[in-house]
Amino acid sequence: MREENVALPDHADFVIIGAGIHGLSTAWRLAQRLNANGRGAEGRIIVLDKSGVGSGASGIACGVVRNNYFQPAMRRLMAHSVNIWESDPEEFSYHPVGYMQVSCEAMREDVGSIFEQQREIGYESVFVEGANAATNYMRGFFGDWQAKNITSVLHEKRGGYSNNSKSMQGLARKAEQEGVKILTGVEVVGFSFDSQSSAVSAVETDQGSISCEQVIVGAGPWVRDFWRMLELPKRITVRESGGCVRDNVDMWRYWQLEEGVLSVPPETLLTDDGKVPPVIHVDTDATLVSDVDGTIVTEGMWGIYYKPDWHFGGVQGGASPYRVETPVDEVAIDPYGPESPEFVASRDFARMWVSALAHCHRRFEGMMPKYHDEPSGGIGCFTPDSFPVFDRFNENATLIADSNHGWKMIGVGHLVADEVLGDRQELLEPFRFSRFEKGELHPVSNSPYPWS
Ligand SMILES: Cc1cc2nc3c(=O)[nH]c(=O)nc-3n(C[C@H](O)[C@H](O)[C@H](O)COP(=O)(O)OP(=O)(O)OC[C@H]3O[C@@H](n4cnc5c(N)ncnc54)[C@H](O)[C@@H]3O)c2cc1C
Repeated sequence: MREENVALPDHADFVIIGAGIHGLSTAWRLAQRLNANGRGAEGRIIVLDKSGVGSGASGIACGVVRNNYFQPAMRRLMAHSVNIWESDPEEFSYHPVGYMQVSCEAMREDVGSIFEQQREIGYESVFVEGANAATNYMRGFFGDWQAKNITSVLHEKRGGYSNNSKSMQGLARKAEQEGVKILTGVEVVGFSFDSQSSAVSAVETDQGSISCEQVIVGAGPWVRDFWRMLELPKRITVRESGGCVRDNVDMWRYWQLEEGVLSVPPETLLTDDGKVPPVIHVDTDATLVSDVDGTIVTEGMWGIYYKPDWHFGGVQGGASPYRVETPVDEVAIDPYGPESPEFVASRDFARMWVSALAHCHRRFEGMMPKYHDEPSGGIGCFTPDSFPVFDRFNENATLIADSNHGWKMIGVGHLVADEVLGDRQELLEPFRFSRFEKGELHPVSNSPYPWS
């Protein structure tokens, strides 16, 4: 049952902070497991959110679900999550249309190795190489395909996208059906710690204190604040893969995700045979010129992704994010997303993204006036290597800090729940906090994105 403005319980065995994709997925799995082993979940698991279900990054995510990762550990994790998306497409509002990574020569080798490794883990995909073959492959879907400098296409047959708010409501229903209580309008303001150890003994909220056995934090962009509340170090040491050691590195940094909508009928982007296409992601070094006045937008590497979306009401997508230069402690997270006076997609984004759509498909030429000129996008909180931290701190506080990779990672909450119940998960091992000090960082690709 979802409740607002109710008296808080004094105690819950498991307090989960954040009703986003990770908090709710964790709650669902925890409850399933407690019910399955006869201990029962009713009254034992609460989810607290200062606003409501999906009111953070999960409520504004573009919703793309893909496996296209250069890092083996990310690929394995994503394959696990895609299984969960596929387990109930209707309730998750999940569209398994597939995903295409369309790339220029600088990325061909990296993407080729992703393809090889997808084959090794049995994740179905097709890899097309060579300029003519890649163009012909794309023209098999869209006769007006015209992107330049493309020499490979990785077509993942699984993955696709899901509709953010509908998926979140579906996930919340699943958790509630298992006996989870979701309390919205309750802000967590700190923790009390055990006098004998560093363990969290209670979660302090603006409406009172809740003692607990375990706390799980799935706070998305607000993770910076919970890190502070858990008294964890603001700056850390990072040992690079080459052995170079960097001290005093900020644990967190923010990037602005730029996304927008072209207000045309979503059907504008159907394939030539009338089907919903895979989500398309193009990265190229072809000079990008403005579709409005022919001026150069960029001569460097650029990338966009897009899909027809009946939920957003048009062709929706985004481009590479940019780094927020404000000192991390001063970044104003609230109000979040399109309500932020500071962090929304810029005019430059519209010029770049719509010009890039026109670069790829003739059908989008002259469409700049159709750009939906409303605030969109939002910030994400990233770790020093831009990959997630899933780990336990202070003995009983589990942190899910996805470094903004996470809509697609619906399965992470399941793995976290299993760990909270005592079963260590091999898939989560490469994402421990200690990797920074040990120098066990994830490999980096030539993609223009901080998350590939
Ligand atoms: C514009 C944009 C587009 C994106 N598109 C994609 C995509 O296509 N595919 C993809 O895989 N990922 C995408 N992402 C990333 C993805 O959305 C996030 O990684 C993911 O949603 C984070 O989920 P979460 O559960 O950790 O946090 P959130 O969804 O942000 O949830 C955190 C919750 O914590 C609550 N909270 C915060 N502070 C407190 C407090 N003090 N007390 C109580 N509650 C609190 C908030 O109200 C919020 O509801 C996108 C992100 C952005 C910003």
